[in-house]
Amino acid sequence: MDISVVIPVYNEEKNVSILIDKLMSSSGLVGKEWEVILIDDGSIDGTFSELQHLKEKIPQIKIIHFGINAGKAAAYSAGFQLASGNVILTMDGDLQDDPAEISSFLSTLAKGADLVVGWKYKGKGSTGKTIPSKIFNSLLSILTGLKINDSNCPFRAMKKEVAKGLNIYGDLYRFIPYLAFQKGYKVTEIKVENYPRQFGSSKYGISRLFNGVMDLMTVLFISRYSKRPLHFFGIPGLAALFLGFFIDAFLVLKGFFITGKIGHTALLIMGVMLIIIGIQFISLGLLGELLVTAKTIELKDLPIKDIVR
Ligand code: UDP
Ligand code: MG
Repeated sequence: MDISVVIPVYNEEKNVSILIDKLMSSSGLVGKEWEVILIDDGSIDGTFSELQHLKEKIPQIKIIHFGINAGKAAAYSAGFQLASGNVILTMDGDLQDDPAEISSFLSTLAKGADLVVGWKYKGKGSTGKTIPSKIFNSLLSILTGLKINDSNCPFRAMKKEVAKGLNIYGDLYRFIPYLAFQKGYKVTEIKVENYPRQFGSSKYGISRLFNGVMDLMTVLFISRYSKRPLHFFGIPGLAALFLGFFIDAFLVLKGFFITGKIGHTALLIMGVMLIIIGIQFISLGLLGELLVTAKTIELKDLPIKDIVR
């Protein structure tokens, strides 16, 4: 199989048949062996029956039907595991991405990239969405060193190994280019068009902007410290512990040998608090280490680019 196109759909009954038509005539797919994996993410409209209907005529269609609305990350995970193409493409099912552009993704991959991500350079609709998105993407570039403009663009293509090695849950799918980059894969960006939605409605509101900050923290933390949590918690923990210990030791010794009473209530409490906080942090780090030890590392968790036998 050459190409797998993975598309999460949630309440897109009016869009799926047009989408499939566009895929069938996409120049990137014509003449290739390809499949499209549509993940119906618990739709409550007619999406699933529409998909079943389409599948009767089109053998390239594969459907994964979720019983509940599990979210895009779950949909991608299922799709990536089932995909058998050497190249795995993702796009949205709402016609905001145009299958006609698939060929540009493929040619950029062929030039040596491991992952190609789209950049909706004309902005994503209202300024209420574009400005926060700009700020967010610049922050991500500065913090991670990956210079791309649109980390969350759903239109992407990657080599099979990249997709199969991704471990995405929650909102991590927005960081797919970065997750690949920190494993040493070459990430490139190409400009894509952004078409307005014609049918159905956007599933995400303004709330995602607030979640973005937390997602950023998660992704930075897991990429740097997920294999050594004690290094994250241990340093502030030890610093607090030592500082607290010295403050209180000083007060106790001074009280014992010089003044006869401990005194300095505020300082004493601060010392005790620092000691408690320090022990808490170190314990958290050690708990984290236990979690890491409990997980066996598999081949797909390692930053392998090629294996030459
Ligand atoms: N989607 C999904 N599960 C969800 C929400 C969305 O599979 O819980 C799909 C949706 O059908 C669409 C894509 O994810 O194909 C992007 O969603 P949407 O167009 O609502 O997001 P936006 O373009 O507004 O960012
Ligand atoms: Mg959309």
